[in-house]
Amino acid sequence: MEQRAECVKRTEELLARWRVLRRELDVRGVQLLAVSKYAADADVDILIDAGQQDFAESRPQQLRDRAQHYPDVRWHMIGPLQKNKAKYIARYAAMWHSVEDIRTARAVAGYVLDRRLPVLIQVNVSGIPHRHGVLPEALCELVQAVQDMPTLNLVGLMCMAAQKNHNGSDFSKLRSLREALMNGSLCNSQGLQREYLQTLKLCMGMSGDYRAALAVGTDMVRIGSGLFDSVAQG
Ligand SMILES: *Cc1c(COP(=O)(O)O)cnc(C)c1O
Repeated sequence: MEQRAECVKRTEELLARWRVLRRELDVRGVQLLAVSKYAADADVDILIDAGQQDFAESRPQQLRDRAQHYPDVRWHMIGPLQKNKAKYIARYAAMWHSVEDIRTARAVAGYVLDRRLPVLIQVNVSGIPHRHGVLPEALCELVQAVQDMPTLNLVGLMCMAAQKNHNGSDFSKLRSLREALMNGSLCNSQGLQREYLQTLKLCMGMSGDYRAALAVGTDMVRIGSGLFDSVAQG
């Protein structure tokens, strides 16, 4: 009996956090990706029943398993990818947010059947070497390569901010890169299809820094612990 009461309380708290978050995001037209990498299926069930349609995973196997288990909602890939798991993303991801090199992009592109997979390029705007994402200096080459892959559709840019990004400066950097791609001040020696770049979206902001990302004008946020982890909420 007590266990049941505990369970009902957990469910109510999860739903309350989700509703508050959705209200805050919906009025701004920002899309919530519920990052379920550490969440139990029971919690995923609860959010799907409540109407959440977009979930994100950082490991390709788990994305595949959940996409098979929950085929009626969308599964976004947000983590690093190795070529030997390319097939999972090609088959099961609704969107691939973490494109960071040409070879892996090509591997995924080769497995995509009967559709164009929407992808975002992850950019390392943190200034810290060896972080995930392509460096801004190498962005043009990757954009060009992705545009040349007919089964991939470049729809945006993604980043993870450095830990101490309290003022949102990493987010501003990503937004500036998008503006520069759109207006042609970046990559103008490449033969890019400019019109194709006019609708690029931004995916940035996690539990600890999503408000800074909202302030900069992100289109999507990725929230895990702040949603699923009741301990993180105190
Ligand atoms: C885990 C993860 C998130 C969510 O982080 P939280 O701090 O739990 O909200 C967002 N983006 C990526 C790429 C992640 O791996």
